Amino acid sequence: MSADHGPDNCLFCKIVRGQISSNKVFEDDDVLAFHDIDPVAPLHVLLIPKLHLATLADSDSTHEPLLGKMLVLAPRLARELGSADGFRTIINTGRIGGQEVYHLHLHIIGGPVRLPAMLTRG
Ligand code: AMP
Ligand code: ZN
Repeated sequence: MSADHGPDNCLFCKIVRGQISSNKVFEDDDVLAFHDIDPVAPLHVLLIPKLHLATLADSDSTHEPLLGKMLVLAPRLARELGSADGFRTIINTGRIGGQEVYHLHLHIIGGPVRLPAMLTRG
């Protein structure tokens, strides 16, 4: 990924560092989850690694434990936040994938969805 997708000016790294506030729902040493600022459904949280990884395409085998942890945590958070019956998980990757914030994040979306702009951006 290019230098402008590095950690220094990264919005979500700033949230991890506490330089920008967020509405946190979960945090441990490796990951952070917080409510999306522009929710597309009654439940819409973002689960991020604290490690700056610009996109899923920047991951490699060393990230398998971290990514596995995030996937396993997603249903637990969805359940605890009221979407025990089902939810969507979305990772947008790169410009073509509609990604706006270049710090890997897993959307956890529960309840009726309003068509997200992320799916209509071209
Ligand atoms: P993506 O299009 O997958 O990169 O999604 C980026 C998401 O980050 C969007 O759903 C935004 O609403 C959300 N977002 C942007 N800024 C913030 C913020 N400061 N706090 C919480 N969510 C944010
Ligand atoms: Zn970052």
